Amino acid sequence: MKSLLLGATALLALGAPAFAGPAAVSAARFGETVRVLSSDAFEGRAPATPGETKSVDYIIKQFQAAGLQPGGDVQQSGGRAWTQDVPLARFRIAGPVTFEVTAGGASQAWTQGQQIAIRASETGADHLSVKAAPVVFVGYGIKAPERDWDDFKGYDLHGKIALVLVNDPDFETGKGDFGGKAMTYYGRWTYKYEEAARQGAIGFMVIHETAPAAYGWNTVKNSNTNEIFDIIRQDPKATHAPLEGWIQRDATVDLFAKAGLDFEALKKQAQTRSFRPVELKGVSVSADYAVEAATVVSHNVVGVLPGAKHPGEHLIYTAHWDHLGVGQPDARGDRIYNGAQDNASGVAALVELANAFGRSASRPDRSVVFLAVTAEERGLLGSEYYSSHPLYPLATTVADLNMDVINVHGPTRDVSLSGNAPVSLQDDLVAVAAGHHLNFTPDPEPEAGHYFRSDHFPFAKRGVPSLSIDSGVDLVRGGVAAGEAARAAYTRDRYHQPADEYDPTWDLGGAVQELEVLYDLGHSLADTRQWPDWKAGAEFKAERDRTAAERR
Ligand SMILES: [Zn+2]
Repeated sequence: MKSLLLGATALLALGAPAFAGPAAVSAARFGETVRVLSSDAFEGRAPATPGETKSVDYIIKQFQAAGLQPGGDVQQSGGRAWTQDVPLARFRIAGPVTFEVTAGGASQAWTQGQQIAIRASETGADHLSVKAAPVVFVGYGIKAPERDWDDFKGYDLHGKIALVLVNDPDFETGKGDFGGKAMTYYGRWTYKYEEAARQGAIGFMVIHETAPAAYGWNTVKNSNTNEIFDIIRQDPKATHAPLEGWIQRDATVDLFAKAGLDFEALKKQAQTRSFRPVELKGVSVSADYAVEAATVVSHNVVGVLPGAKHPGEHLIYTAHWDHLGVGQPDARGDRIYNGAQDNASGVAALVELANAFGRSASRPDRSVVFLAVTAEERGLLGSEYYSSHPLYPLATTVADLNMDVINVHGPTRDVSLSGNAPVSLQDDLVAVAAGHHLNFTPDPEPEAGHYFRSDHFPFAKRGVPSLSIDSGVDLVRGGVAAGEAARAAYTRDRYHQPADEYDPTWDLGGAVQELEVLYDLGHSLADTRQWPDWKAGAEFKAERDRTAAERR
């Protein structure tokens, strides 16, 4: 077993005292954890399957061996379990979707998967029926007080179907109040649906355009017309309008024309502050379909190491344990989606960090939580559930450091992030990486909205400073060309395919580098009295500021 001693780092960013007790990270144990979790016996680790039971049991054993304490649900005895129950709601459209559009006095039937992709209603209703609802274009559907931006301007959407543009107002021009080409959270369709529910719309449909969405209609069709999972919400109508879905761009342009409107001209208007909702005169929609709802229970695995001085303040490390399970076979006839890199590798990193902290002679000042979440592949649901039912108060949660796919291609000269964010943690990461002689490479695809696509995001949305580390691309052997080639090969040949399997020839030197950085960053955050924060203008700063009095 090859071991590596983690030394003290110059904590440039935080000014915290350097960590005194070295701790062991093992590349061999990291590889073994990936091998076991991604073996065929674990059946691709789908939530609420026998593969979940095996995964959860295995992770608990690793946490126990590392010296963690159970940090999950509080039991009747008063102690904590190793897990947090995550009840999930599953929705399926049962039978056909009837969708009729009336424009200029003539009616037309639209087909599920062609002009529209209607999602199974997530409000809990078993039947959805909309009769001749008026249709309104609401631009980008954004209400952002900190940017002095409101596309709704008090317009009453009750009983109406709203059509909304994907991405944010400065995607096309590349400059403006929403981060230029980079996508802000206001550009994600998940935000738009939430805002629609707040505005009281009966239906909300995102207009699909390939470039700003960053994927084609097939992706929209496949991921929206099959089964949908959600956390179980006390008031689902607060988050979901009864009718949610997508509409093809060409069908939209046609509908606008029938109402005497020019889609492109209105889109230009929507890129300005003065935009107001526009009703499509003479256009209405009727829809009818049945929905089948079921409940399943999955689990987050939670270990904790209580802090020596400030146990009520928590730093969280997250990694999702779930993957896609058993599905369509690939060309080799393999049906098991093993998810070795995505994300058995992140869980293995979590286990190594648990060992590094847990086996150390000295405890950090603040508590450290090791959270292996479920159902990331179903829409970040395990982390969404945790952050809406936190086991430790979010106001005094220092930060979330997330891991989703760890480098197995050898040592690098840099580290990166999955999504850049205006948060002081990013500066801390850059400083800690520099202490390990690693450069920082910003997210090379900011327009794809990666910051909103893994488990740190539900924390960020609720104000907790968060980031998701990403491997560097500048490989010591072969440089950027080799790093980018390795990445491209992964995306093309293995990502979300049965071929994402454990490989004994992996070079885990890069994984160890990522672990050193994550360990030192976490340890410095756990040992300082400071609180990382959002920078001025960040969309989640106001939410964090609301609880400022609870952080002293
Ligand atoms: Zn993942």
